[in-house]
Amino acid sequence: MRMSHSPIPLAEALRAAATRIDRIDAELLLLHVLGRDRTWLFLHEQDGLGDADAAAFAALVARREVGEPVAYLSGTRGFWTLDLAVTPDTLIPRPETELLVELALERIPQDVDVCIADLGTGSGAIALAIASERPRAQVVATDFSEAALAVARQNAERNHIANIEFRLGSWFAPLAGERFDLIASNPPYIESGDPHLGEGDLRFEPMTALASGVDGLDDLRVIANQATSHLKPDGWLLVEHGWNQGASVRALFETAGFADVQTARDLEGRDRITLGRRI
Ligand code: GLN
Repeated sequence: MRMSHSPIPLAEALRAAATRIDRIDAELLLLHVLGRDRTWLFLHEQDGLGDADAAAFAALVARREVGEPVAYLSGTRGFWTLDLAVTPDTLIPRPETELLVELALERIPQDVDVCIADLGTGSGAIALAIASERPRAQVVATDFSEAALAVARQNAERNHIANIEFRLGSWFAPLAGERFDLIASNPPYIESGDPHLGEGDLRFEPMTALASGVDGLDDLRVIANQATSHLKPDGWLLVEHGWNQGASVRALFETAGFADVQTARDLEGRDRITLGRRI
């Protein structure tokens, strides 16, 4: 116990917090309170933590300790090359979803005018990553949540991305009569009875962004069935799904008439993204 009232060094505040929450989370929360980055912290570990910052840090550590995700506490999350605002109205973008972006970019030429759709855009992660990498693409991002779209719009401004348009509505509803060169989606795909929904960080994320019926495939069924009427010939559909859903999603794609149907694995070697070409 420190008896003097001199401010404790940042390094010591971090060590104390790391006994209660993950060290990396403690660091991210401290950097958020200080408005600094890791390079700065590395050089200033012996600086003192002021009273107001110490109180703010303690409050965030306590909230993290009961499970609130760091991204909601700091209000931001890195995705691709972008810094995205996230709120409890949006799913927190995951690293697995960057694989979907990579596979999409492989199918979108650089210097061609193409039309891309991202369904259920949430924070805008997929749509904004693609739009930022392909300035000639016109990207349409949909979501049925007005609150999520407000966050996505804010993220377009924050990252100075203009070749994107946001529309309110479920899946293809706001895209009537339109056809795209590529459609991407990371829809909800967890089984509604999965006990994980009641554990850890997932408890704090919007249930509508996570769960999709008894087998987790309700939304993927709608997307696979309706996508062919919204794709140009040779257009691609790419969706994210659970590690145990690869075979089911490939079957949905094949039934809907897609060719070249394949599933890509994430960094942990698990089925994660299925894609197919409209013939
Ligand atoms: N498209 C967003 C993302 O990948 C949101 C996905 C969702 O809410 N299911 O982060």
